[in-house]
Amino acid sequence: MSLEAGADAVVIGAGVIGSAVALELARGGRSVVVLDAGPAPGSGSTSASSSIIRFSYSTYDAVLTAWEAAAAWTDWAGFLGGDDPDGMARFIRTGMVVVRTPGDNTDRIARLWDDIGITYHWLDAEGLQRMMPGVDAGAYHPPSRPEDPRFVADAAGPLSALFEPESGFIDDPALAARNLAGAARRHGAVVRLRTRVTGVEVARGRIAGVCLDGGEVLRAPVVVNAAGPHSALVSAMVGEDLGMRLGHRPLRQEVFIVPAPTGLRLEDGMPTLADMDIGQYLRPQVGGTWLVGGTEPECDELHWVDDPDTMEPYPTVEQYETSMLRLAKRMPAFGVPHRMAGLAALYDVADDWVPFYDRTDVPGFYLACGTSGNQFKNAPMAGRFLAAIIDHEAVGGNHDEQPVQVVGQRTGRTIDLAAFSRRRDPAATSGTVMG
Ligand SMILES: Cc1cc2nc3c(=O)[nH]c(=O)nc-3n(C[C@H](O)[C@H](O)[C@H](O)COP(=O)(O)OP(=O)(O)OC[C@H]3O[C@@H](n4cnc5c(N)ncnc54)[C@H](O)[C@@H]3O)c2cc1C
Repeated sequence: MSLEAGADAVVIGAGVIGSAVALELARGGRSVVVLDAGPAPGSGSTSASSSIIRFSYSTYDAVLTAWEAAAAWTDWAGFLGGDDPDGMARFIRTGMVVVRTPGDNTDRIARLWDDIGITYHWLDAEGLQRMMPGVDAGAYHPPSRPEDPRFVADAAGPLSALFEPESGFIDDPALAARNLAGAARRHGAVVRLRTRVTGVEVARGRIAGVCLDGGEVLRAPVVVNAAGPHSALVSAMVGEDLGMRLGHRPLRQEVFIVPAPTGLRLEDGMPTLADMDIGQYLRPQVGGTWLVGGTEPECDELHWVDDPDTMEPYPTVEQYETSMLRLAKRMPAFGVPHRMAGLAALYDVADDWVPFYDRTDVPGFYLACGTSGNQFKNAPMAGRFLAAIIDHEAVGGNHDEQPVQVVGQRTGRTIDLAAFSRRRDPAATSGTVMG
């Protein structure tokens, strides 16, 4: 079967990123078709996201992007252009503690926050104990695993941290993607679910469309790769050199859901915590639990995945116990729960942990991928970035030669999209999910 149909733009992937891109392209007046192999928008890696909204990145453009995107999350209906009858994702403010470790980038983050005007203060060990009653505010860096004798060593000194009050999380990340896809539909976008892209068509050196399972061909001069952990596979379908200077590949992650101790729950004012001193992050959530994930400390092996479709979806007892014992060290009131609850999912990690929002060397083929476990929060800006780059190229611009600049509506400051180029020099980041 070969049913030829057409659109101005095809977006591959209806995760939070692809849905945001589709919304902005449709808002700009394009006919858009979003294709997703899954059963619902946001049912891929977005559904597993810890959906933390924070501003603690190592580079100016990354901090500014997250700060600008936060304005969309705090006025979600305003950003979408109305309420979604299926319900709205909610931003829940917790504030964020970023623990300081030797040689880390917290001083740089603080300077960037000073520059951009993001309020914060430093916390010493006593301040940490006031904010999180019962916390062990000792510094144990570098993180270790329980089988390492250093795991039970005494603290080397007191801990200190940055505290930033505007951070928080989105209570339902998959719903956020559905909200974006719904808004895109209201602007005329077509969202086709359970539809897998099996090929990308190139004719006379430029993008011509995509092939779908079942043999259908969908013609379009613009194709955006927002396939999350599958995006390297989708790029490979083009069969041409895209001009990538940096790579990206799937990395398996485990996140656990645990009961929060009394006094350290969301309703008690528990902040979100990035604790690079023990190698874990946690955030409180509605219902008296915490989400607990890792910050890629050197002692934890990274599990790169060749084929995202064969990823083992269940968390391991080994990582569960390691994470729980680390938490128990930091929060002595936290009894290690007997029953493991959690999930495994994939990040799509770029070599320098910075996403690609970019054109490619094949005209018409665009990238919104390499999101490196830290771009849920930036989806509203990712949509704007891709629309700006595609608009620029539609009138003869070349984003490689004249990088598109996007002015943030919140600050009036300019974000240089060269920061997210596939041809950039690797950015000086923490080399972890913290960016
Ligand atoms: C465990 C975890 C925790 C995270 N925590 C945070 C956090 O706290 N804060 C933060 O900002 N970010 C976080 N992230 C990162 C963030 O969630 C991701 O960057 C974001 O959700 C990626 O969205 P996406 O739309 O690119 O990918 P996805 O949601 O994976 O969407 C890609 C879609 O493409 C579809 N697809 C793939 N191949 C094809 C094909 N061939 N044809 C058709 N469809 C296809 C898939 O079905 C999928 O729905 C986390 C990620 C994970 C995994």
